[in-house]
Amino acid sequence: MPQYKAPLRDMRFLLNEVFDYSAHYAQQPNAEDATPDMVDAILEGAATFCEEVLAPLNLSGDQEGCTFNNGEVTTPKGFKEAYAEYVAGGWQGISHPKQYGGQELPMSLNLLKSEMMGTANWSFTMYPGLSLGCMNTIFQFGTEAQKNTYMPPLVSGEWTGTMCLTEPQCGTDLGQVKTKAEPQPDGTYKITGTKIFISAGEHDMSANIIHIVLARLPDAPKGTRGISLFIVPKFMVNADGSVGARNPVVCGAIEHKMGIRASATAVLNFDGATGFMIAEPNKGLEAMFTFMNTARIGTAVQGLAHAELSYQGSLPYAKERRSMRALSGKKDADHTADALIWHADVRRMLLTQRAVAEGARAMIYNAAKLADNMVAGVAEGNKAKYEEYDDRLGFFTPILKGFITEMGLECANLGMQVFGGHGYIKEHGMEQIARDARISTLYEGTTGIQALDLLGRKVLLQTRGKCIKEFTNEMIAQAKPHLLDGGPIGMMARACFKRAVQWKAMTLRIMLRAAKDRDVVSAACYDYLMYSGFVMMGHFWLKQAIVANEKLAKGGKDSAEFYKAKIQTAEFYFERLLPRADGHKKTMMAPTSSIMQMNNDHFNFS
Ligand SMILES: Cc1cc2nc3c(=O)[nH]c(=O)nc-3n(C[C@H](O)[C@H](O)[C@H](O)COP(=O)(O)OP(=O)(O)OC[C@H]3O[C@@H](n4cnc5c(N)ncnc54)[C@H](O)[C@@H]3O)c2cc1C
Repeated sequence: MPQYKAPLRDMRFLLNEVFDYSAHYAQQPNAEDATPDMVDAILEGAATFCEEVLAPLNLSGDQEGCTFNNGEVTTPKGFKEAYAEYVAGGWQGISHPKQYGGQELPMSLNLLKSEMMGTANWSFTMYPGLSLGCMNTIFQFGTEAQKNTYMPPLVSGEWTGTMCLTEPQCGTDLGQVKTKAEPQPDGTYKITGTKIFISAGEHDMSANIIHIVLARLPDAPKGTRGISLFIVPKFMVNADGSVGARNPVVCGAIEHKMGIRASATAVLNFDGATGFMIAEPNKGLEAMFTFMNTARIGTAVQGLAHAELSYQGSLPYAKERRSMRALSGKKDADHTADALIWHADVRRMLLTQRAVAEGARAMIYNAAKLADNMVAGVAEGNKAKYEEYDDRLGFFTPILKGFITEMGLECANLGMQVFGGHGYIKEHGMEQIARDARISTLYEGTTGIQALDLLGRKVLLQTRGKCIKEFTNEMIAQAKPHLLDGGPIGMMARACFKRAVQWKAMTLRIMLRAAKDRDVVSAACYDYLMYSGFVMMGHFWLKQAIVANEKLAKGGKDSAEFYKAKIQTAEFYFERLLPRADGHKKTMMAPTSSIMQMNNDHFNFS
């Protein structure tokens, strides 16, 4: 079973040496508490909690799963106690306003915490994770009274929250939502309908659950323009803030799932439950999507988490397990066979996991800085600032969510592969990582939907290629000073320069083709997303390698071995993973006819 150890060394390298987070925090409003000492204390504290409390519950939580009995859900042994410890530690509100009992530290710190928690135990992390979406929505759109009622217990973690979008007939296409909201004389609404797949929809860890629900008013226009947003508490809240009568929103069942089995995924039946409107009528979807970028980046973290955990699980095994002799000659002469790690094919699998985990971490830490600025815009009431950073984040989001989760899943499979047949056996915990990772490419927008969002919306419709131009210019600016360097840095810089020019040109070609053939966008979007992910990760690997190279030359905080291994992992990425972008480039440029020409009735013959 993988023994999770928070990768603090790599986290600190990115925070302090690559992205200079202390300078970033110094420019943030209200971030005076985010001093280097405080940041370090948070990293250390979260690491201890994750290693000692959450990680030991990961395997047992999967084995036991959640149980459903007559509307009630019991989480696996130890979860309730771990959640109580999480609440007592003040972890839930670290990035929420002091006014509501939080610590008001930058949002990026919350993301670092989530990375550690999610890697230690993704199922557990779902419970506080969904609350974040609920809190963000109430904070942004709630009335003062709603904020005063719901924010303090959500920020402390005493209550948890959910996001109720999906219904049996629709998950992606929320224009089909049917749940009804009937206005009542007292200004409340009666909510009636069924929501499915609601994470943390019912459980035994908190005193109340606050559901954020999409529903339709009686006279609402059809489609996405007729959806409103409601707060529906599991228990009504008394005037003094205490928990009152049960609201008729009842858990009808929980799903039996492939993975994240300790996370309760509930069917919720709203049977005339009392709801309170939040945001403007018929503008609910817009409101719910306000923090969509940050929620999706939160899910991108799952790809990083599973790549990291699977690497941590498979590395010690590859060092201990022995099989045959290395092709270049005996390595462990005093044993009957050499350790797996001597075999090039096993090293390929290990290095892929490492390169993806560390490349993804750099991509996410870069986006986290943008998220801080976006949240600062909200806190300052500066709409222009919020929109600027939300737009910038909007370009990274589908790439991070789509590409990193796809690669995290691949890494989880590679981790199992390193174990051979033992990877398929439950007790080692490796097959669990693969099962847990599988959901990450499905929820919070499938990979296909992220890909359509990137190519169709962000690149073609919203910016007409400007977002690609801006990012590739950044790539060129970073690579240019190193083009003539010898050694690995020069090789990586030239590769980044070439890909930046190629990405721009390719985008233009796709735009021209899409103008003539509408199916081009859907047919090419997956390959465009994966191409973009491989190239963007290359940019962030070059960034890390440049810093490591400078530190090697001038001396840095870490040992020379750390920096050397960084550069070697970067070399592996450029030689063994980045070339996969070529396959995606070729595929996306193929005509749509081979995808579209077959008659639907000819997909099978019985
Ligand atoms: C464990 C789990 C937890 C979840 N948690 C929550 C939660 O907390 N709250 C919540 O509201 N929901 C939740 N969901 C629901 C989840 O977000 C949806 O399942 C997901 O968005 C996909 O929707 P769907 O299942 O209806 O698939 P569909 O929308 O039916 O999609 C099916 C397939 O068609 C593709 N597709 C759909 N439309 C298009 C298109 N226009 N072009 C190209 N391809 C398309 C999709 O990419 C996908 O491959 C959860 C689901 C699971 C399994």
